[in-house]
Amino acid sequence: MSEVSFSDTTVADQWHCDVLVAGSGAGGLAAAATAAFHGLNVIVAERAARCGGATARSGGWAWVPGNPLAKADGVDEARDDFRSYLKAVIGEADYDHERIEAFLENAPHMVGFFHHKTPLTFAPGKKINDIYGKLPGAGTGHRSVAAAPFYGKEMKPALLAKLADQYKMTAFWGMGIMAGEDLGHFLHATKRPNSFAYAARRVAIHAWDKLVHRRNMQLVNGVALVGRLMQAADNHGVRIEVETALERLIFSDDNERRVIGAYVTTPHGLVKVNAARGVVLATGGFPADVERRRQTFARTPTGTEHWTLAPPEADGAGAVLAESAGGFVDAAGRAAAAWCPVSLVDFKDGSRGVFPHIADRAKPGIIGVLKNGRRFVNEANGYYDYVTGMLNTVPAGEPVESWLIGDHRAVRAYMFGFAKPRPVPLAWYTRYLKCVEEADTLDQLAEKCGIDPVGLMSTVAEFTRHAAQGIDPAFGRGETPFNRAGGDASLPYPNPSLAPLGKGPYYAVKVRVGSFGTFAGIAVDARSRVQRQDGQGAVAGLYAVGLDQKSVFGGHYPCDGINIGPALTFGYMVGRELAGVQVYEDDGSAAPSAAYRGSVLNAAL
Ligand SMILES: Cc1cc2nc3c(=O)[nH]c(=O)nc-3n(C[C@H](O)[C@H](O)[C@H](O)COP(=O)(O)OP(=O)(O)OC[C@H]3O[C@@H](n4cnc5c(N)ncnc54)[C@H](O)[C@@H]3O)c2cc1C
Repeated sequence: MSEVSFSDTTVADQWHCDVLVAGSGAGGLAAAATAAFHGLNVIVAERAARCGGATARSGGWAWVPGNPLAKADGVDEARDDFRSYLKAVIGEADYDHERIEAFLENAPHMVGFFHHKTPLTFAPGKKINDIYGKLPGAGTGHRSVAAAPFYGKEMKPALLAKLADQYKMTAFWGMGIMAGEDLGHFLHATKRPNSFAYAARRVAIHAWDKLVHRRNMQLVNGVALVGRLMQAADNHGVRIEVETALERLIFSDDNERRVIGAYVTTPHGLVKVNAARGVVLATGGFPADVERRRQTFARTPTGTEHWTLAPPEADGAGAVLAESAGGFVDAAGRAAAAWCPVSLVDFKDGSRGVFPHIADRAKPGIIGVLKNGRRFVNEANGYYDYVTGMLNTVPAGEPVESWLIGDHRAVRAYMFGFAKPRPVPLAWYTRYLKCVEEADTLDQLAEKCGIDPVGLMSTVAEFTRHAAQGIDPAFGRGETPFNRAGGDASLPYPNPSLAPLGKGPYYAVKVRVGSFGTFAGIAVDARSRVQRQDGQGAVAGLYAVGLDQKSVFGGHYPCDGINIGPALTFGYMVGRELAGVQVYEDDGSAAPSAAYRGSVLNAAL
């Protein structure tokens, strides 16, 4: 927060709206677009020069069970299945009945609303499995959606200019690649002529776009989601102001102390924004706030032992604003952050990138070990579990780190950290960026990395013996649909998740504790109203969505897409609440449904 004097005499301008939204990620834009669709006058204040926040960096997948795309594909699951699964993962202590019921009720309508009434159309995640496939109610696809890819020219140039570009660390030469078929073509480009033609066409279009438009125009993943949400908002007159940061809330001077606006800093000076119906905090949580990390993250004694993938603007501005209104940050629950294993990439220009190990861990021929050379986790489970494994097993006092080890075949066939597969030369990563270590033999590799060679050799021998039989007695890798889908079924081994580590050279990449964002967040009720710390209910006129609000799943990670699914859903709900809407837009049914009212009542009793 900057040192500014906040008063009507120091403002350069005054703006008026019904709703002021702070932040242009999934949560903020969903709230803005929905409220504007229903006729409200909305301003989105975005602190960065471009919109999108962590959402634009993301894969863009949203976990939205019971969504209408699944139903259109003939998959109509009972809401009880979703509850059973969530209860099994989360456990009673962290299970927030009211907020989870609100999510399960509204997520399908949110998808229906955007898909049918706005430019944001979705692609179904037909094959995305829930992580813990052995638990009751676990899904095997159709519970996720992502924004359908589109070409940037579909956006107004002025709007496109405000949209974040593809995140460098997950891009290929600045180009986004979507999980699923798109990625499959790139990985098989040297093996299948049709995949080669597909990838070559994508790259050629990208080269043209860079030359002519100076940016990635084939919009996929989180960038596509943000772009479409911006269009949805813009179509209904939302004013999107970049380089505009919410700095201080304004309260009514009666006893209610209702939030009636905020001061924002802009390139043209301080502006007072009067918001008749309320303010929505959607500033992306606090993963970049070192002090709050120190206070709430496990094994981060100074707060700097942690590497977040979120942008630097996600420094807890929303939390500070909520606290100024009597709200508070609730850090109860399993984990304060959405863990992701990361590695660091030092570029020649002196910048440092943080790479998320999302897919490589699960590939056959790759294992994760600690300094003692021993495996410690089922590498093919979720990213959250990999980090939890590190946090729980690295001895106290040691840096929480591990190594991913791969054989030559695996490293050249799949992505390995920041290193891209064939035909991209591996020497770029081993010699120049030095983000991957290479050695001819495993003991040489161990020596280079400071891993116990005896431990590593015996781990690989044991893993290899079992992998050839398709089993992993130590950690059960390959036993769930989630594990197997992350593997490679084209190999001649009985389990797609498991392959013996074959011939060298061998490679290693050092993995550290990182996060996609925070799970701890502003305490809210099922309507996303900021709750007062003194127990006196909600702060009138103040809402928190996206990562600004405490994770609806109590700091657990039941499925991929559990950040963006709730961000979109609770944003949508807030937009509707502010507009006072009584029916669902997608099917005209009464809101909330009788089933939802019943379930909330049951939960309360
Ligand atoms: C590489 C990567 C992959 C991911 N993949 C997925 C995925 O596939 N599925 C999933 O569910 N999650 C995923 N995540 C996590 C997910 O992207 C985020 O949790 C989610 O998008 C956060 O949305 P948000 O709206 O809360 O915040 P953000 O998208 O971060 O938006 C917050 C915005 O607020 C702005 N802001 C900050 N302070 C202020 C202020 N004072 N005034 C005005 N504006 C302000 C920021 O600049 C930012 O633009 C991924 C994250 C990363 C980094």
